[in-house]
Amino acid sequence: MFKLFSNDPVHDPIKQQGATTEIKKTTCYMCACRCGIRAHLRDGELVYIDGNPEHPLNQGVICAKGASGIMKQKSPARITQPLLRKAGSHRGDGEFEAISWDSAFEILTKRLSHIRATDPKKFALFTGRDQMQALTGLFARQFGTPNYAAHGGFCSVNMAAGMIYTIGGSFWEFGGPDLERAKLFVMIGTAEDHHSNPMKIALSKFKRSGGRFISINPVRTGYSAIADEWIPIKPGTDGALFMALMHELIRLEKYDAPFLKRFSNSSQLVCMDSGAEEGLFLYDPDSDPINLDLPHNKYIWDEKTQSAQPCFKQGTSPVLLGEYTMGPGPHQGKKVVPAFELLRRQVSETTPEWASAITSIPAERIRKLALEIADTAFGQEFELPIAWTDSWGEKHDSVTGRPVAFHAMRGLSAHSNGFQTTRGLAVLMSLLGTIDRPGGFRHKAPYPRQVPPNAKPPSSENDIKPNTPLAKPPLGWPTQPEDLALDSQGNPLRIDKAYSWEHPLAAHGLMHNVITNAVKGDPYSIDTLMIFMANMSWNSTMNTMEVREHLNAKNADGEFKIPFLVVCDAFQSEMVDFADLVLPDTTYLERHDVMSMLDRPISEFDGPVDSVRIPVLEPLGECKPFQEVLIELASRLQFPAFTTPEGERKFKDYPDFITRFQTAPDSGIGFLSGWRGKDGEKPLKGEPNPNQWQKYEENNCVHQYHMPPEHQYMRNWNKGYLDFSKENALRQKNDPIMIAIYSDILQRFRLAATGKRPGAQPPEHLKARIYKYFDPLPFWYPPLEDEATDLTKFTLNAITQRPMAMYHSWDSQNAWLRQIHSHNYLYVNTATALQHGIADGAWMWIESQWGKVKCMARHSEAVDPGTVWTWNAIGKAESAWSLSDNADESKKGFLLNHLISEELPLGGFTVSNSDPITGQAGWYDVRVRLAPAGDDEPQETWPQVKAYEVPGMSLKKEAK
Ligand code: SF4
Repeated sequence: MFKLFSNDPVHDPIKQQGATTEIKKTTCYMCACRCGIRAHLRDGELVYIDGNPEHPLNQGVICAKGASGIMKQKSPARITQPLLRKAGSHRGDGEFEAISWDSAFEILTKRLSHIRATDPKKFALFTGRDQMQALTGLFARQFGTPNYAAHGGFCSVNMAAGMIYTIGGSFWEFGGPDLERAKLFVMIGTAEDHHSNPMKIALSKFKRSGGRFISINPVRTGYSAIADEWIPIKPGTDGALFMALMHELIRLEKYDAPFLKRFSNSSQLVCMDSGAEEGLFLYDPDSDPINLDLPHNKYIWDEKTQSAQPCFKQGTSPVLLGEYTMGPGPHQGKKVVPAFELLRRQVSETTPEWASAITSIPAERIRKLALEIADTAFGQEFELPIAWTDSWGEKHDSVTGRPVAFHAMRGLSAHSNGFQTTRGLAVLMSLLGTIDRPGGFRHKAPYPRQVPPNAKPPSSENDIKPNTPLAKPPLGWPTQPEDLALDSQGNPLRIDKAYSWEHPLAAHGLMHNVITNAVKGDPYSIDTLMIFMANMSWNSTMNTMEVREHLNAKNADGEFKIPFLVVCDAFQSEMVDFADLVLPDTTYLERHDVMSMLDRPISEFDGPVDSVRIPVLEPLGECKPFQEVLIELASRLQFPAFTTPEGERKFKDYPDFITRFQTAPDSGIGFLSGWRGKDGEKPLKGEPNPNQWQKYEENNCVHQYHMPPEHQYMRNWNKGYLDFSKENALRQKNDPIMIAIYSDILQRFRLAATGKRPGAQPPEHLKARIYKYFDPLPFWYPPLEDEATDLTKFTLNAITQRPMAMYHSWDSQNAWLRQIHSHNYLYVNTATALQHGIADGAWMWIESQWGKVKCMARHSEAVDPGTVWTWNAIGKAESAWSLSDNADESKKGFLLNHLISEELPLGGFTVSNSDPITGQAGWYDVRVRLAPAGDDEPQETWPQVKAYEVPGMSLKKEAK
């Protein structure tokens, strides 16, 4: 009778006379939020999925995508057996013969062992929106190839790198807004696909408790629909807004000076003299550097003694403004300024009027916003009675709350100015003193990390040797030109040119350039390209039609320019048709998986959390999890980490690998942090526990560690937390993580471009580019595409986002989710559409300088008049994903990708259409124009492309 008040369902929705039902817990992967779910099975068949009420992330909440996972299982597009392209057939025609896994492994082992023994970089492994980068990265490193990355380079590397190079943490799984205590929430450039359920839960509580929510976005969809105020902004101009907000805060002296002096490099002295030290911090040879990788022995200017003093010296009173001359000592006579003074100068001209002309936000609104955030941060300041000790040994009785929180994602990131824009946001948040404080931005383990983390990519040919693991991980965080991945001639070591002078801080690689570079042989050609879970011949690539041609390109001798193409996916996609070898992956419900602290865990603000997937169903047909494929290949290729000293295979399978692998011998650190130690008694660190998977299974597939309150805030400088993080290998060191208002790392690259710095220097044609974009302070510049475009002809911006109902391109073949939308429209502001003579629902053309697409228009008031937008990856090739030949997805659905160029002609040479610092793809930079379609034109989208069914797909079309 009290059912209504319990967690149990009022009735069992899957009960049936005589049938056996069971509930298995695992982790959702219908999007990347990784909610806990319960799979309900009747006589072994999956019939219902709901949220797991005992899971800390989603607390029982499930979204439409998560509940529809059941139809992913039943998809007719499932691939069920390994396939080999028929000899002599055309790539793209989908002509395959089924082969056994044994044959597939034999083919791969033979080919890859030859590459590994001769020139390992001829093997490239790139992966899509997967969540197993610790494993795929380990595989690439053990193979010995630098040519590895996941999809971050075309997703949100600017968000990650811009924040991590500034505050040592980032949004989403590594940090986020503390909406429990915030009073004002400002969301910028965020669609629905990141942090979906947790964000919705937090937003609903925030709004109910009276919080004010402002959304700044060219488009009002998703979360923005419940915002108290929507401020439309022109795409690619967020950086100008941040510059103006900083201008106002500094002009009005509304910034947290004590926080900046103590916890950032704002008061540290920068050398202003011309030469090798220009723009760099000066170092005190008599002080302890503490961390040799990023030394702390800098100076501040002490107001009391009017002299330069070691920056951490007790009893000093650092200044933030002014210009000074160094007194007697090693730097005598040098002109210096505190870094903050340089920031003040940088924003002195970036007035609200200046930003208004760029962003299309009225100057008065920018001014009001600056006051609003400052008044909330400082006027509503509060203290939490939590005692903590800082890195310098000072005890604090409380932590200060500054209740203004921000959240940002790909809308900031996917522009060629996104790194500096994101730095702008991180510095703005720092001015307000909201970093890892209650009500502001808070980190999640394993962050915060050093600014930047200490891993460095391979930086010479000597780091890449046959039959040898890479000397360094394939991806890392350069801090100086010498860290770049260049050979002795200065040529890129990587196929995607990540960490070259074209994109020096490409922390996530440039997956979007791999196919074109490999086909052009620039910087070199490769032998085998393995793609996992990425639709690179369709929605995951710029310049789609040309890339499809590239995949079929041949040399004069008739051999393909990319000789061997391996595609691993669970479904037949546009990409699968081009493969030489297809490896059928499982769904997330059919495999073991880990959301690891070594990778992308699901941590909460109060401590590390990781989780697992445990199969609730048997794999369909001969499907095999990609994790198992990697373990099998690593064992057959006898990678050192996968082989015993006696030369035997070390791990039976993936679950065994996860249980027993340690990052270093006896380190006690492995992929999973829960129930370590022989008897499972140790959290976070301890020897392998043979029953670890079982413990996860018994505990909702999740391990949550709650840190004591005194470790939960101010973690960049919290001695207790930093000791804890070092002890548990979340960091290698425990020195304070100073916020980089001013980035001397960027300045090192800039100095190299001027020839003032000894050591590596950029090639002549890239010097001006490096000098311009490697500004050590945030600044705004127009997206690079603007430079290459006649803006009088192409006056509108065009952007995309993932819809709330579909996270992956997979979901267009999900029978339930297709009922929400089976095709997309181009959303155009009503006034703009009418101006162009385009009626609501009419067929129209959208054109950029690179291509054109025919689509259907939808009038909307929820989009800025200067911007048009659509859902991404809804449009499909005809017959792809086992959809019928006349499915809406191929007849009405369209891809904006056809309008976007992968490369730009700039300054007399061609470069990737990407951020010049990080290589982030400039998806949202394209400029377009509109025209109505003629009455005599066919009422279907253009271009039309055909895809083909492959053998062994799980259901025939007639059965749909
Ligand atoms: S938010 Fe994402 S992970 Fe959570 S239930 Fe929905 S699809 Fe699954």
